[in-house]
Amino acid sequence: MANRWGIPKTVEELVRGRDFNCVYCGISFANSVLTHKTRPTWEHIVNDIRINGPDNIALCCGSCNASKGTKLLAD
Ligand SMILES: [Zn+2]
Repeated sequence: MANRWGIPKTVEELVRGRDFNCVYCGISFANSVLTHKTRPTWEHIVNDIRINGPDNIALCCGSCNASKGTKLLAD
């Protein structure tokens, strides 16, 4: 069973338990009020939806997701 991003439930739960901050800018998902810019969104590190293991799935904030393609994880 997978969510609508094709991410298996087990991977989703693992990543939700692992990533409490945006993988790119480090903003915390736990504090303050979540807006469309700070809410966690699903990110494929390698932009290939067929790779949906926990090593390729992370949570990033809506702001970073909106600028996807302009940033690298190493930044
Ligand atoms: Zn971010």
